[in-house]
Amino acid sequence: MTTASASSHLNKTVRQQYMSLPQGGKCQVTYIWIDNNGQDLHSKTRTLETEPKSIEEIPEWSFCEICRFQQDQKFYREMFLIPACMFRDPFTLDPNKLVLCEVLKNDRLPSETNHRMGCKKVMDQVKEHQIWFGMEQEYTLLGMDGHPFGWPQWGFPAPQGPYHCGVGADKAVGRDIVDCHYKACLYAGIRICGANAEAMQSQWEFQVGPCEGIEMGDQLWVARFLLHRVCEDFGVLATLDPKPVEGNWNGAGGHMNVSTKQMREEGGLQYIEQAIEKLSKRHKEHIKVYDPHGGQDNVRRLTGHHETANINKFTAGVADRFASIRIPLQVSHDNKGYFEDRRPAANCDPYLVTKAIASTCLLDDVEQVRGC
Ligand code: ADP
Ligand code: MN
Ligand code: MN
Ligand code: MN
Repeated sequence: MTTASASSHLNKTVRQQYMSLPQGGKCQVTYIWIDNNGQDLHSKTRTLETEPKSIEEIPEWSFCEICRFQQDQKFYREMFLIPACMFRDPFTLDPNKLVLCEVLKNDRLPSETNHRMGCKKVMDQVKEHQIWFGMEQEYTLLGMDGHPFGWPQWGFPAPQGPYHCGVGADKAVGRDIVDCHYKACLYAGIRICGANAEAMQSQWEFQVGPCEGIEMGDQLWVARFLLHRVCEDFGVLATLDPKPVEGNWNGAGGHMNVSTKQMREEGGLQYIEQAIEKLSKRHKEHIKVYDPHGGQDNVRRLTGHHETANINKFTAGVADRFASIRIPLQVSHDNKGYFEDRRPAANCDPYLVTKAIASTCLLDDVEQVRGC
């Protein structure tokens, strides 16, 4: 069996005595930010004298960033942390807070991996359309040895088939983490709307949404923070690698579901079809921002097998899980609703994905899709 981390073996009953101590009216605020690799998360905590009632009451902060370039060369730089949105802290409980921050360089311009600012700009431009997003976040649990959690040490579990939405000890592995993460999200104020076991054993999914505009990226990044933090307590890892196991095993995606006000109204299907037509013309540009490495991660996943479309070809269809864009069956029946972009990788930056979709579908300026 796979091994859990050293910290997970510490006595959690002893911990409980301290966690329930009164904290003298003060408030612990944990600042969260995205690493300069665009994927990992960091956090650090400070004490505020009173409970902040809004994001404006939370002061800016800073941290020292390690920049690595080439093999072992690195340098350090001081970066600003700008509070962007606030949630309740499900680990230390009320009145304590979690705060997702934007990272700025010393010239106060966004860091290379701060894609929130560019996303926000586009979302403000398309505000009248009331664009909603819902993201499905797939992930895979790993032991500390990097092997899928609960898999036999040598070889593989039985082939795929029984695991998707599976129930039973021989099918579902690691449900404790899924349950605890779900509760943590609800407590924090994340719009988590579901969870299920995935096609590969030890692979799971949770869904967040619908969220309007910039909120999708904010909520998803904090939901990811909660996932990694819950996994830490259990001593296992959650990887967002889009293809953690080579061979006849499903990869992990970050399907993005999308609707505008017009699409949700009677006869909205025609607007969905218009959006798909626009998306078809910008396939390559989208693929470039649907994983952190310009498509290099997703190429292992988008093969045309395992419920994916081939990375080189744009396709769309009703109820088609092998298409780039799927129109859910219900939406086609109702003649209104939303569409699903199945291309984003599990390790995508939701700010870049939602920005690309909003600008392609709702803005005419070609340049809007690229970078930030
Ligand atoms: P799938 O059948 O693809 O597995 P899921 O049930 O896992 O679908 O996820 C559906 C997602 O669609 C959820 O994230 C939900 O928030 C989102 N969603 C539902 N309605 C809308 C809508 N009108 N606009 C945007 N997203 C939506
Ligand atoms: Mn799903
Ligand atoms: Mn799924
Ligand atoms: Mn889906």
